[in-house]
Amino acid sequence: MTGPPPKVRVPLLVAELPTLDRLAPYLERIDRSRWYSNFGPLVQELEQRLAASFQRGGRRAPTVVTVGNGTVGIELALRALDLPPNAPVLVPALTFVATANAVLSAGLRPVVWDVDPDSWLLTPESADEAAAEFPIRAVVPVATYGCPQDTQGWTRFHARTGIPVVIDAAAGFGNQTDCGPTCSIFSLHATKPLAAGEGGFVVTRDAKLARAVRQLSNFGINLTDPKSAPIGAVTMIGTNGKMSEYHAAVGLASLDAWPENSVRRRALYQSYTESIRAIPGLRTTWQQAPDDCVRSVCCLLLDSARRRNRVESMLDSLGIGTRRWYLPLLDRHPAFAHMAHRPTPVAYDLAERLLGIPFHLNLDAASRAEVVAGLTAVA
Ligand SMILES: *Cc1c(COP(=O)(O)O)cnc(C)c1O
Repeated sequence: MTGPPPKVRVPLLVAELPTLDRLAPYLERIDRSRWYSNFGPLVQELEQRLAASFQRGGRRAPTVVTVGNGTVGIELALRALDLPPNAPVLVPALTFVATANAVLSAGLRPVVWDVDPDSWLLTPESADEAAAEFPIRAVVPVATYGCPQDTQGWTRFHARTGIPVVIDAAAGFGNQTDCGPTCSIFSLHATKPLAAGEGGFVVTRDAKLARAVRQLSNFGINLTDPKSAPIGAVTMIGTNGKMSEYHAAVGLASLDAWPENSVRRRALYQSYTESIRAIPGLRTTWQQAPDDCVRSVCCLLLDSARRRNRVESMLDSLGIGTRRWYLPLLDRHPAFAHMAHRPTPVAYDLAERLLGIPFHLNLDAASRAEVVAGLTAVA
């Protein structure tokens, strides 16, 4: 992040990562161990602490495998499934471009599908429809804007179809609390609620999948199974997708601050959106999600494309940052234009009316008041 250009008075997003005092104890451990990458002690500790955060009830905790970023995590999870080249993989039309990049980098073929009008998610029910039309070999549902996917629904989908479900939960830490039938991938990018600058992790209850992702993240070199091939031999085509000890240090310090920061994020989102909902005449709808969702962004759905565009230019003229998060839709990007898709009327309609407004932990009361004043002016 290089900081906002000077004319923006209320920036859209200001990342908040651990400061030196919180980082220092972890960095000192790196100085002492002189272990800098390749599955070092901080990476191992981060994986264990993250895994414990997914433990619910009597079930054992899943396995966490850290990776260099969320995109490579999705790619490696898909590679680990060992699907035939160009196998069709279902993805939602409304998502960050990385979802499609990862599918294509894994040598697979994205099939773009519509999302639910209330949750803005690709649902197990719509995946059933897609599976009836395309011979899809995997689904990559997205925790859209960090809001969680229904993993019980996906577990039933997996049970009735056998199709693996690789959940792109990049911005969903704290919300996507179960990894689903196959795996979920989270990002630790600076802009996500749990941040390490860059980084990511794959969460799964499938030990074989976890081992494959770890091996793929280290060039595909066999380090664990001397019976199947010599140690040091490349037995799968991987990449360098490992997390460094420095990134793990930041991730651990972020995890220390998570209990406090997640509470702050929830409270801020609640009071901010309440004051926006109270603006007379500004007809907004909101993504349907659990009340306790920890938000990474704040997206308004205006009542028409015309109103969205007016809100956008009004806020811009006031020096208030906005972003059409996740837009244009996947199949509108030139590099993705060849991807297979069915008409996506819901996503198309959302794309015309969505707008992200400033939201982050550093958004103070004066800035929030400026946003509300700007929105009131166009209501
Ligand atoms: C941020 C994001 C990614 C990419 O994660 P990186 O760690 O930046 O590679 C993928 N998918 C979605 C939905 C995201 O929001």
